[in-house]
Parts: sequence; structure tokens; C-alpha cells
Amino acid sequence: MSMIKENYLLSMLESELTDAVGRDYVSTNAADQLGHSIDYYWIPEMWHDRGRENPKPDFIVHPSSAEEVAKVMKIANNYKIPVTPWGGGSGSQGGALPMYGGIILDTKRMNKVLAIDTASLTVTVETGINTQHLEWAVEKVGFSTMHFPASIACATLGGFLAHRGTGVLSTKYGKIEDMVMSLEMVTPTGEIINTLPVPRHASGPDLTMLYLGSEGTLGVITKVTMKIHPVPEARKFHAFLFKNMHEAMVAGANIMRSRLRPCVIRLYDEPETARLIKRVLGIDKQGAYLVFGFDGPEKIVDLELEQACAICRRQEHEDLGTELGQAWWDHRYKFFYPPYMFHLPQAFGTLDTVATFDNIENVYWAMKNAVKDNFPEAAFIGHYSHWYEWGCMLYARFIVDTPPQDPQEATLYYNKIWNSAIRAAMREGGVINEHHGVGLKLGRLMKELYGPAFNVLGSIKKVLDPNNIMNPGKMGFER
Ligand SMILES: Cc1cc2nc3c(=O)[nH]c(=O)nc-3n(C[C@H](O)[C@H](O)[C@H](O)COP(=O)(O)OP(=O)(O)OC[C@H]3O[C@@H](n4cnc5c(N)ncnc54)[C@H](O)[C@@H]3O)c2cc1C
Repeated sequence: MSMIKENYLLSMLESELTDAVGRDYVSTNAADQLGHSIDYYWIPEMWHDRGRENPKPDFIVHPSSAEEVAKVMKIANNYKIPVTPWGGGSGSQGGALPMYGGIILDTKRMNKVLAIDTASLTVTVETGINTQHLEWAVEKVGFSTMHFPASIACATLGGFLAHRGTGVLSTKYGKIEDMVMSLEMVTPTGEIINTLPVPRHASGPDLTMLYLGSEGTLGVITKVTMKIHPVPEARKFHAFLFKNMHEAMVAGANIMRSRLRPCVIRLYDEPETARLIKRVLGIDKQGAYLVFGFDGPEKIVDLELEQACAICRRQEHEDLGTELGQAWWDHRYKFFYPPYMFHLPQAFGTLDTVATFDNIENVYWAMKNAVKDNFPEAAFIGHYSHWYEWGCMLYARFIVDTPPQDPQEATLYYNKIWNSAIRAAMREGGVINEHHGVGLKLGRLMKELYGPAFNVLGSIKKVLDPNNIMNPGKMGFER
């Protein structure tokens, strides 16, 4: 798949890249190339599993600073070869895959915490840092980022910024885009730019927001200043079981409409309660499991918990108490790892979407029916992970135990499930994704989602990346 066929050109390029970042930080090693041809997207994993080759990079470069990234960008523009940023490679959308070969720009050497400002409560940090390492650094001085995604140990901060990721406490502390003050970016043509130092102003449109969610197609995010928070005095949980998902949804939405500020609400539909809540928490009951938590000064937490419980008791319920709420928090990451997570040869995907409260249940049923009607062999489970004042995120999943064996056929089959479920969601007011991004997986649906507005995004891309070298093949942009 490599774009660069001539060995002569390859060695010219290698010597320029070596000059830019140092001999030890340019790899053409076959194992490295293989390692950078698979992320957490099901298709490349399945292809590899079945003996097929995925597109590989020609070079993996490891710059240590924005200045070195800028040098790499200039070289890539001269040769007009693709550059794909790579953080932890834990993305589920194929966003970091080098579809047209070229350079993988691995950000992990840019991992320094540069400053912690205890007056404004911000941290300034390089984006190649592992998110767990950042949290530990901030905790050491008594604060927290409050960014706790299930992949905290295997993803970089840059990955979350690049596709607007979300941690488990998002309901109070926000998605990653709500946590950012400002950022430094290396543009596709190799300029180092900074956005304004504060996120609220009237000094023109918000450039920070242009780059958040750009998934490496508009440049490389190299540095960020983000908010930090005092470690709360108390964080407490409570769980309920409702007779069905609708009753639980009314309770959850009422908590949000009351403008209480839970740090988390999570609601599992009946099939996921029966499948995963039972396995992970040992609750073997019919119904829909709902858990919520509050954090802050203990007296306020107790009061808010009491209010939220009173709201839940208005619906038909079983009160599972604090212990089975706390147990969920203690095991919150387990759901996403073996032995609870799905794996090959199963085909599975997270159909995550978001909609307003008036639409969200319709989105759920439309997706579920689309999967069930067209793919009766597929299981469909879902939970609502991230809640806002106006709606919530649906983390739905399909699981097929025995998908087609032939890789080509399996790919077509897999894409058909996605098309039919996501189109069903869009018809009911959902969007193609909430926090995993678009990447390679969903690029084809971007024009359908945006309509003519997609031309605005396309025009921005063309102007900022005139040689179209940044992460080609992603987000639905023209190749
Ligand atoms: C077990 C598991 C649990 C997960 N749980 C969550 C979760 O709770 N919340 C969540 O949001 N996601 C979750 N994910 C998905 C994944 O971890 C996130 O998408 C994460 O943000 C990816 O970060 P990364 O460093 O691995 O990025 P990569 O996979 O390396 O890259 C992802 C995309 O970002 C681009 N990119 C990376 N760094 C930069 C940069 N510095 N500048 C510009 N572009 C860049 C890449 O080109 C690519 O398009 C989970 C994944 C796994 C495997």
C-alpha cells in the first residue's frame, strides 16, 4: 500500500527524517510497521487474525517536541507523503491507521507535564502523555483531571483531544473538549500555532474547537492547557433497579432536569443488565440497572444523593442501595477488558450516539430494530453512559458470535450492520458518534450526517492541508 515505491526516494526521505528527529527515532523495522497497522478497530484485527495484510507505514517517527513535529511536516509536504498521528493506538475507529503508508508520527515522546497552576487550577502538558500518568502527576499535588476513561492506562491525552473522548465523570466535569483551556498545534504545513489562553472570549471564533475532534486531519496537537480540580472530600454512589429501561430513563432524565449535578449516571438496558451487570456485579435480576454518583463536600453530596434517590423512588423501582452503586464504581473498567469484553472470532462494535431526551429512546429502538430485523443472528445490548442537561449518550453494541469467515465478506457484513444501525439513529435525531470519533470506520456517513455543511469542513481541510497529507482516508474527506 505504500505510496513511495522507489528505494532511492525512500532513503532520501529516511535521511531527512533522521536529520529532523535523530537516528534512534526513525524506524523502518518490520515489527514496528506491523504494530502500527492495527488499532482497536475490529476490521484490521480481523484481517490480521485471518492472515491478511493491513496497510503499513513506511516510517515510524518519534519526535520529542513541536519543533521536531514541524520539521517532519515540512519534509512530508516536500515529498507529498501522508502523515498519520499515532498516540496509544487504542482508538476504535481506525483513525490512526496509515491507509496510504507514509509516516506514522508517534507522539509518545512528547510526554512532559510542563506546569501546574494552582491559582487558576490548570495543568499544561504535552499531548503524548499517557492519561494515567497525567492523572498521577496531578494527584501528587492534590488535584485531579477528573478524566477517567476506561482506556486511561493505554491511551494518550492527544488521542482524546483528537476525537473528543470522554471519561466516566463527564456528567459533572465534561467531555475532554469541556476540560480544555487552550492548545498548541502544528499545522499540516509545519507552523506552530497557539489558540487563545482562555476558552471564553469574544475575540473571534473558537479555534480551539476547530482542532478538537479533527482526528489528526488538520495537524498535530502538541500541547494543551486543561482544567484540574481539587480531589473531592466525598464521592458516593447509589443504585436502583427499574422494571424496564423506560422507567429508568424517566428517573435519569428527571435527575438531569432537576439540575442536580451528578458526576455520573449510568443506565443499562434489560439485556445488558442480564448479561454484564450480572457477570461483573453479580446482580442476577430482571430489569434495568441505574447507578449514579455525586462528589464534592460531604454534606452537599449527602443532600444531592437524597434528592436523586427521591426522584428515582417516583418510578416503580427496587432500591439496591449504596453498596451495589459503589461496587459499580469499583469495577467500572472491568466491563471493557477480558473476560467480560467481546473478542474474535465474534464480530462486535460500539454504536455510540447521542440525542436529546425527547429522541433518545426512539434512537435506541430504531437502532435495535434495524439490527434485529436485518441481522437476527446479532445480539444488541446498550447502556447510557454520559448525561447532559438536554439528553444523553447511548453506548449500544452489537455482537455476532459467528460472522462470515472470509475477511472480505466479513468486512462487507460488518459495514452493513453499521450502516443500517447508524442510519436508523440519524433518522431519529441521533448522530454518527458521541465520543469515539469518525476515523476510517464512519467517514462514509459524514456527508449524510452534515448535508451541505460538510462542504464547510471540506473547504477548511483543503485550505489548511493543501497537499492533503494529514491522515488521508479519514473523516470522510476527499482523498
Ligand atoms: C478498552 C478500551 C476502553 C476504551 N474506553 C474509552 C472511554 O472510556 N472513552 C473514550 O473516549 N474512548 C475510549 N476508548 C477508545 C480510545 O481509547 C480513545 O479513543 C483514545 O482517546 C484513543 O487515544 P490514543 O492515544 O490511543 O489514540 P490513537 O488510537 O493513537 O489515535 C486516535 C486518533 O487520534 C489521532 N491523534 C492521536 N494523537 C493525536 C495528536 N496529538 N494530534 C492529532 N491527532 C492525534 C490519530 O491520528 C487518530 O485519528 C477505549 C478503548 C479501549 C481499547
